[in-house]
Amino acid sequence: MRNIFRIKSLSLVGLLAAALLVAVMASPSQTPAPGQQPPAVAPQSPAPPPVISSPAPGSVPAPVSAPAPQGRLNVVVLDPAHGGTDPGARGTGGIRESEIVLGFAMEVRRALEQQGFQVVQTRQGNENPSFDDRSAIANAQRGAVFVTLHISSTGLPDTARVYVNSDLPPVTDSNGMIPWERAQAPFLGLSRTFGDLVQGFLAQRFKGSPETSQAASVRQLRTTAAPAIAVEISSVTVEDRADLDRMAPGVADAIARGAAAFKPSYVVPAASGALP
Ligand SMILES: [Zn+2]
Repeated sequence: MRNIFRIKSLSLVGLLAAALLVAVMASPSQTPAPGQQPPAVAPQSPAPPPVISSPAPGSVPAPVSAPAPQGRLNVVVLDPAHGGTDPGARGTGGIRESEIVLGFAMEVRRALEQQGFQVVQTRQGNENPSFDDRSAIANAQRGAVFVTLHISSTGLPDTARVYVNSDLPPVTDSNGMIPWERAQAPFLGLSRTFGDLVQGFLAQRFKGSPETSQAASVRQLRTTAAPAIAVEISSVTVEDRADLDRMAPGVADAIARGAAAFKPSYVVPAASGALP
């Protein structure tokens, strides 16, 4: 499969998102309120604008939400990792990562919605969308952050770590488009800011967790054109599943507080050039 596609070959999701975005932008109710205060934190935005090439069309489920109004972060794409024929990490007590992360996702969703975020999940049940399908759901949004949830097979029980993708030198093709495989490159600084905020809240709750996020090569993050983090909870080796489930409210609270703290520092890039 070629990994560079033109805008013409945007997937169905992209076209739907484009149509919705046009509808949103055409609405007079979307103009900023007068007297709106500038964000307190120096805002960052990715550069160059993320014109991302699309994966193969036709295989991506439609997102359940409209794109965010331009300029605001209000969508969190939540990815319970693994699923379907891929159980992820497995503990001796029969604990499956793919099941535990679904339970975590419910808690995280609730906490994010309480903070006023709209949540889009990459899977609701025991399906296993591809890495590209999951990234495509985030990449079809405008103004989203992406959080993938994992349970590790190692690490001190009752700790949690945040990973951001390791450095990806930005590359554009001769048409100025960013290859799908490098979609995360323009967002790495933002991902680090978001990751450090979430990790800080996790460290307060779960003693022994790191103080800052760590860089790693994470396949799911690499193709995601949004500030994106992986949250990994230790671990499937606990005897009793309840020991993991008990962590869910604290993890959810840390992610929601991290997203809320991150929100003022993220200026969602303008749509110019990204969509037809
Ligand atoms: Zn995993």
